Amino acid sequence: MATTTKAQEASTTPFSDALRVTEGFVLADRDPHSTPAFDGDKAAGQKALAAADEELDDLQERLYARSRVGVDRQRVLLVVQGMDTSGKGGIMRHVVGAVDPQGVQLTSFKKPTEEELAHDFLWRIRKALPEPGMIGVFDRSHYEDVLVVRVHDLVPQEEWEQRYDVINAFEQELVDDDITLIKVMMHISPEEQKERLQERLDRPDKHWKFNPGDLDERAHWDAYQEAYQAVMDRCSPPGAPWYVVPADRKWYARLAVQQLLLEHLRQLDLEWPEADFDVEAEKARLAAM
Ligand code: AMP
Ligand code: MG
Repeated sequence: MATTTKAQEASTTPFSDALRVTEGFVLADRDPHSTPAFDGDKAAGQKALAAADEELDDLQERLYARSRVGVDRQRVLLVVQGMDTSGKGGIMRHVVGAVDPQGVQLTSFKKPTEEELAHDFLWRIRKALPEPGMIGVFDRSHYEDVLVVRVHDLVPQEEWEQRYDVINAFEQELVDDDITLIKVMMHISPEEQKERLQERLDRPDKHWKFNPGDLDERAHWDAYQEAYQAVMDRCSPPGAPWYVVPADRKWYARLAVQQLLLEHLRQLDLEWPEADFDVEAEKARLAAM
């Protein structure tokens, strides 16, 4: 048997352990420029990202195969939240984009439509939950209903205040239904956001990404950080914790989210499903043809 190294003994889920939000977490204390659980540079980070694509692809196929054959109903839901320019789009392109598109259900949540507003805030969320065997990805989520909604009092405070408990009950339901929930906050600094907004203004090929409304939201930076802190305080139970990913370095944030996904998939023990037919008999039949 191979000897285990010190690093392996230390932890098999280093990114999850380093980034998980537990009781007493203070958002302002997490440095957006840091690279927890990784001590390499940008080049090493990009290499590590590419090197893990194959395993991610393999695990996704196992997840899918098991649901097709009916072994189990497991699925994964990756929730990605963050301020404008925090790199959510890059996660979709560089991390989620490496997975077989047939195994992914991606939903971007925008300002609710009139139809959506006529329903309970979880209505559109429930409709977008992944089927068994799938990896669901939310670009923004039900948390907008306690973030942008709280910052701008889009509903009365009595109403948004109740939503934290509603969200906890909802997520417990998901976990009980074999959904592995991975909630990720892309954590950038206001200085980094300013640079990224500046770049969107300076480069004609990035103008399409700029929304003048982003500047209005930026003006509420502190209120948003408070709202995120409240989410971490109230909606990060041990069974459905948040992971706060330092996101000032895009290469690190992408690697971290990929590794969070991998670490959670590995824990599902995704053995290939056994054939529900007699393999030897079928081989013999084929050989005789
Ligand atoms: P983006 O993700 O940058 O394309 O922008 C989507 C916009 O929709 C963001 O400004 C969000 O804050 C906004 N949004 C998403 N969900 C909600 C919600 N439940 N209520 C109000 N605005 C929302
Ligand atoms: Mg935007």
